[in-house]
Amino acid sequence: MGFDVIVIGGGLGGLCSTLHLSKKGLKVLLIEKHEYPKHKVCGEYISNEVLPYLNALGFDPFEFGAKAISDFTLSTPESRSVKTKLPLGGFSISRYCIDWELAKKAQAAGAEIVHASVTDIEFEKKSMALTKDEEFTAPLAIGSFGKRSNLDVKLDRGFIKKPSPFLGVKAHYKGNFPENAVELHNFEGGYCGVSKIENDNINVCYLADFKSFKQYKNIDDFQDQVLSKNTFLKEILDNTKLAFEKPLTISQVSFERKHPVENHMIMCGDSAGMIHPLAGNGMSMAIKAAQVASLLILKFKSGKINSRLELERDYSKAWNSEFSKRLRSSHVISRLFRLGLFSELLIIGLNLIPFVLPTIITKTHGKPMSSEL
Ligand SMILES: Cc1cc2nc3c(=O)[nH]c(=O)nc-3n(C[C@H](O)[C@H](O)[C@H](O)COP(=O)(O)OP(=O)(O)OC[C@H]3O[C@@H](n4cnc5c(N)ncnc54)[C@H](O)[C@@H]3O)c2cc1C
Repeated sequence: MGFDVIVIGGGLGGLCSTLHLSKKGLKVLLIEKHEYPKHKVCGEYISNEVLPYLNALGFDPFEFGAKAISDFTLSTPESRSVKTKLPLGGFSISRYCIDWELAKKAQAAGAEIVHASVTDIEFEKKSMALTKDEEFTAPLAIGSFGKRSNLDVKLDRGFIKKPSPFLGVKAHYKGNFPENAVELHNFEGGYCGVSKIENDNINVCYLADFKSFKQYKNIDDFQDQVLSKNTFLKEILDNTKLAFEKPLTISQVSFERKHPVENHMIMCGDSAGMIHPLAGNGMSMAIKAAQVASLLILKFKSGKINSRLELERDYSKAWNSEFSKRLRSSHVISRLFRLGLFSELLIIGLNLIPFVLPTIITKTHGKPMSSEL
């Protein structure tokens, strides 16, 4: 069967573009290396900016038990804290749930999903995705293979050669935690996001500097001796029960610059650029990029964009205008929070001038998305 588009990687960027384009009648093949459902290292808090679009795609997170989030608490390694209402609010839902539900919707809309690892992508007039056993060809390809993939090595992308000193750890816990809150607690060498998700689970997910992590024997040791110095985290970790057999980890998380078009592929989500998780906006960016990419691909298919080159240029331009500022703001903010004493003083300041924190949050987020399909 001939496909109009091949989507490589079925996280939120890949799933939303697959669903969008399938709903509009295109023949879409999604190649995802893992079976659904699957847990992923992620803070699982999503800004409400994506709701109009998700609803237009036929997905309502609250149908699946997502928690509506309105309150935000931020604390420093010394446990100084500030609280605020989130300007747009958000919701929390596990990746286990949202990715799986979107995959089912994409299939119902006509998309084909193949579970295989793409080992190479070639381009000669068309895109060809190779797996161990098969070759798939289509006029267009979307690359949505996340923060770091075997394909980044294959494509010799610049960021892959630079050091990526961060480690991500995530687990679900059982216990008490407010349903409407997301908390971000800093500790020496990292920060940890906490929020309640569906099924009464609490998601605890942190990003840590690998150098400080490797001084400890294991995750328990690191959590006891480093995270727990922050009294908010100590309270959470001491009074909850691990709901996973063991926490999930990912290493080599990189925030280096990438390009929104690579080897004629339209890059979506973390494949195009990764925002610091501290901003809690990576999933929204992946979902927004899926909408931008899908709308341009539909224009190309209907002849309103004349050539592939024009499509690639339009997408790069749209991606940069939508996301470059957010990425810059999040890099600056994350650096400020790594400046020890400065971050303690910052929190004192944020408590004295309450409108500043919501302004900072707004700078790392976008406007509510349109429901255009
Ligand atoms: C510690 C941490 C906490 C975070 N917390 C938050 C948060 O609270 N809120 C938020 O909005 N964002 C958060 N993020 C960011 C968020 O997780 C990402 O921005 C988001 O997952 C990006 O979606 P994606 O579709 O680009 O990539 P992914 O969801 O990573 O999906 C990529 C997919 O590609 C597949 N793949 C890779 N290579 C291949 C291949 N060769 N062949 C086939 N398939 C392949 C993978 O299996 C994967 O399913 C966090 C990130 C980290 C590291």
